[in-house]
Amino acid sequence: MTVAAAAAMDNGPPPPIFRGMSFDDDILIAGGGLNGTSMALALASAGFRTTLVDPKPPKVRKAKDFDGRGYALSISSMRVLKTLGVWDALTDVQSILHITVTDGRAGEGPSPLMLAFDHGEIEEGPMGYMVEDRHLRPALMQAVNDANITQIDDHVAGFAPDTSGVAITLGSGQTRRARLLIGCDGRDSAIGRDSGIKRQGWGYDQTALVCAVAHEKPHGETAHQFFMPPGPLAILPLTGNRASIVWTETTARAAEIQRMNDADYLDILRPRFGGFLGRIDLAGDRFTYPLRLSIADHFVAPRVALVGDAAHVVHPIAGQGLNAGLKDVAALGEVLTDAHRRGEDMAAPDVLARYERWRRFDTATLAFATDTFNKLFSNDNPLLRTARDIGLGLTNALPGVRRRLIREAAGLTGDLPRLAQGKHL
Ligand SMILES: Cc1cc2nc3c(=O)[nH]c(=O)nc-3n(C[C@H](O)[C@H](O)[C@H](O)COP(=O)(O)OP(=O)(O)OC[C@H]3O[C@@H](n4cnc5c(N)ncnc54)[C@H](O)[C@@H]3O)c2cc1C
Repeated sequence: MTVAAAAAMDNGPPPPIFRGMSFDDDILIAGGGLNGTSMALALASAGFRTTLVDPKPPKVRKAKDFDGRGYALSISSMRVLKTLGVWDALTDVQSILHITVTDGRAGEGPSPLMLAFDHGEIEEGPMGYMVEDRHLRPALMQAVNDANITQIDDHVAGFAPDTSGVAITLGSGQTRRARLLIGCDGRDSAIGRDSGIKRQGWGYDQTALVCAVAHEKPHGETAHQFFMPPGPLAILPLTGNRASIVWTETTARAAEIQRMNDADYLDILRPRFGGFLGRIDLAGDRFTYPLRLSIADHFVAPRVALVGDAAHVVHPIAGQGLNAGLKDVAALGEVLTDAHRRGEDMAAPDVLARYERWRRFDTATLAFATDTFNKLFSNDNPLLRTARDIGLGLTNALPGVRRRLIREAAGLTGDLPRLAQGKHL
């Protein structure tokens, strides 16, 4: 008979050594956004007892007007979501077959030196996919329900790690004990802050104006990125003759534009957009997102791991924030599963350090690249303008470089976790 069985037969309290060893959850996830729900699904698929805690009730997070964004998802993100059983439930997925990158000015149209990417340059199929938040979020939440993952409408108010686990206090005062706490609690992560993890970064004094437009002519499954002096304008294809617009302006100007009525808003947008898709009209609500860069110095702390925006917030210039988050999900899920299968304490410091080594360098590189691009392109300096036009033209003339960039954006480079290869944990 094991000591534990002997203790269970005894009606008295368990011996002290076992007091701290009973767990409500293997893993508790703080934050039920896109990364938190994906993380929960990945862990549940590997058999971990997982609880998902978010103060916003599912009804609010599922509401169609909760977040107006469309996401450009990479091939590796598509594979993660497909393997987790979410992708095939998505409606209105739009493939991206072509991408053009152009230097431009409002009213002048794009500069003739452009960079063009085509899906024929890679073997894996479309370069990426556009998915609307109003479809992605409910699909993830439905999958979480179907997997019977425990969900609590509350916030994590505090936590105390010890050698075997972590005691977590919720806003209601309820406490739960888990082996590991995962912070998927977004860009102002309290889990990161309360773990003593510092962050590096700065604001951009830029705000993204986000909306969907209906346009007259077909978009030809092409995503366009125009680099304007105040910041980039992305025109991303949605199903039908519609596009998702991520339009960056200085924060003061964005606030003025957001206050305008729809007709005035469109009058500002039209000359930036140009006439290549014919007449455009708004097709939904308008949103704003202040932009900043923020990366955690560490992605792990005792009994804690950070995932998604809680670990890194990057400029949306390359549409890579969620893609990076889903790679975190895949990498952390794999590290924890493999450690557990080998009989290791899955939240031991050396195990969590594997996750940090795998993801921090990649995301720091992404943060640096998006920051540099934004600084190089978001200005009207004539010298820089000439240099970057030549740079775009040269890059376009080098098929090897173009192919490398496509594979990078599609999330196909580097040490890909199993989920990002389309394999189960
Ligand atoms: C304009 C714009 C365009 C973008 N476009 C793209 C794109 O095309 N492609 C792409 O890959 N990425 C894109 N991104 C990035 C992407 O939107 C984010 O990376 C992603 O949404 C972050 O999700 P998350 O789950 O990490 O965080 P969040 O969505 O912020 O979720 C955090 C959750 O944590 C909860 N929470 C907070 N505190 C607590 C607590 N104490 N306890 C419990 N729960 C808590 C919150 O209620 C919330 O639900 C874009 C971003 C912007 C701003």
